[in-house]
Parts: sequence; C-alpha cells; structure tokens
Amino acid sequence: MHGPPGVPGGHLVIPFSNDLPALRSETLNASKKLKSLALIAAATASLGLHAQNFPDGKPITIVVPFAAGGPTDRVARDLAEAMRKPLDGVSIVIDNAAGAGSTIGNAKVARAKPDGHTLLVTHVGMATTPVLYRKLTYNYETDFEYLGMINDVPMTLIGKPQLEANNFKELREWIAKSSGKVNLGNAGIGSASHLCGLLFQSELKAEMTTVPYKGTAPAIADLIGGQIDLLCDQTTNTTSQIEARKVKPYAVTTMKRLSTPALKDIPTLDESGLKNFQVTIWHGLYAAKGTPAPVLKKLNDALKVALKDPDFIKKQEGLGAVVVADKRVEPAEHKKFVQAEVARFGPVIKAAGIYAD
Ligand code: ASP
Repeated sequence: MHGPPGVPGGHLVIPFSNDLPALRSETLNASKKLKSLALIAAATASLGLHAQNFPDGKPITIVVPFAAGGPTDRVARDLAEAMRKPLDGVSIVIDNAAGAGSTIGNAKVARAKPDGHTLLVTHVGMATTPVLYRKLTYNYETDFEYLGMINDVPMTLIGKPQLEANNFKELREWIAKSSGKVNLGNAGIGSASHLCGLLFQSELKAEMTTVPYKGTAPAIADLIGGQIDLLCDQTTNTTSQIEARKVKPYAVTTMKRLSTPALKDIPTLDESGLKNFQVTIWHGLYAAKGTPAPVLKKLNDALKVALKDPDFIKKQEGLGAVVVADKRVEPAEHKKFVQAEVARFGPVIKAAGIYAD
C-alpha cells in the first residue's frame, strides 16, 4: 500500500475491504476529539472566568527576596496594605524567600503558577543579578510579567555607633589608616548595598572586607552591635535608626540633600568630595510569565490605586522614598526601564570583573 497523498513515504494503511469498522473507529475518534475540545473550551472558559473574578477571595502571596524587617520587606508590606482595598480586601501575605542576593526569591516567582496569586516585590537587583550571576535559573526578560514600578529610594552610608569618625572627612581618614581592616556589610552579591559598597570602594580606591547577609535587616542589627563597621543601605531601613542615633550617618547617595526631617542635615557624597556619586534604588512588582491578561490588568490597576494612596505616600516619604508617579507604572515602561538598567550596570560590573558564581 502507498501512503496517503501528501504524506511522503507515509506508512498509514488504508483498508479497502471491511471498511465499516474503520468508519466506526473514525466516528469514535471524532467524537473523542469533540469531547476533548469541549473539555479544553470549558477549562479555558473557567480560567477566563476565574481571571475575571480575580482574586476571587483567594489570598495573594508577595515574595520578598530579602530578610524580614529590611527595606524591601518594608516597601512590600506597606504596598500590600495599600493594594488590599482595590483587590476586594483579599488577604496579602509576605513570604521572605531570602538569600543569594535575591536570586532565590526571584526564581521562586518565575516558577510559580501564573495565576496572579504569587507576586514579587524586588529592587534594582532585578537588573544587577543577570550580570553578576552567570548561571541563573530564570531569565529576567522572559520569565516575568512586569506589573509596574513602586518607588525610588536613596541610600545612606552609615557606620557603627562606636566608630571614632564623626563626619565623612574623618571617616575617610579612618578608612585610609585602617586599610584592609574595614568590614562593610551587604545583603548578598547583587543587592543594592553590595552595589553601593562596590562603587564606594572603587571611588575611595580602598579595599574592604565585605560581609554578606540575607538582607540588611540582620546587617543593620550587627552594625548597631558593632560586629561590622559600615553599611550602605536604603533610607527605608536607616531613617529610624539615624533618628534614634543608633548608627552614625556619614552621607546620602543623591546629588541633592534629602528633605526628610531626620535626613536633611546629612551631606551628599558628591559635596563630600566623591564627585557625581549617585545611587538610587528602585522597587518594582512582578508576576510569573503567562499570568492571564485580565489578572495583570487588575493587579496593575490595584498598584496604581496604591501609589496614589495618601497613607502609602506619607509612609514612603517619611522614609526618604519617592513614590513613582510617572510612566514607569505602566508594565511596558517598567520593563523598558529594567532593560535600560541592565545595560547601564552591565558594563560597570563586567569591567570590575566580579561574579557571584
Ligand atoms: N537593602 C537590601 C539591599 O541591600 C535589601 C533588603 O534587605 O531589603 O539590597
């Protein structure tokens, strides 16, 4: 027998005699196919229905890839509170999947069921880790749905309370004479504190011993306890400690001094002699790739409501952060911004030749 027309070299056998059973089996196959098509249609419809009703009373988990009590955690918790109302009052829980400079938590969300019930709040690490880690299990461009940016946050350079230096000039002198013995904490390779610390060391041309933590909440606790000497961290974590005089503030990382009352007298690194030293950290919201469009729309709408919530804005401003009020709240602009940040940090990191793996 020849194969069916159009199937070169095909081996499908078409019986000429006794073709009734063949017809019957074709009819059976067709009805099976129809049934499975109907099942698929029903499943899609129910998914669509579920997407329309999202969150449907089911809790949402926001994964924070750093330790509880730290700056990323704080942003996520305040945001969760502000997003609850526009998401029909559903409960939003925080899951601190900390470690490896945020890559553990990021991977967890990249692999999560794409139904909008598992989200990620993370910072600039989304753009630095793809360069610092050569063996990531996720792709920052293709494994996430970008939901919009949250805020921009300056950083502060702070020291342990026991440090003899009382201002940046004295700190510089102390670092010069303690060469090689200064302990600088960070939240792991690829974190904001790591990035800020790298730039600081390269500007001062001083090598320090870096001490990684799972977030800057444990790092600041050790700084206060005197186990490490210096830390560069977001104002969302340092403002209250500076206010309570538990740490020594030396400088802020913006070009202009900050207006937050507790921080307004701290000089910039630029005015302290490190010309153009500027590090501002941003946070964004993400979901797993493949989350249905109506769910993404609801989440983005809820984010927009949260970013206009006066309580959220007040809390963030009190911690030195600026809530995003520009086009980066749109998913496509958010993604473009992160891609531009990867392009900005990539060459700097590659030139420094530092890799985490
Ligand atoms: N502030 C940390 C960092 O340096 C992250 C955190 O603990 O939230 O990236």
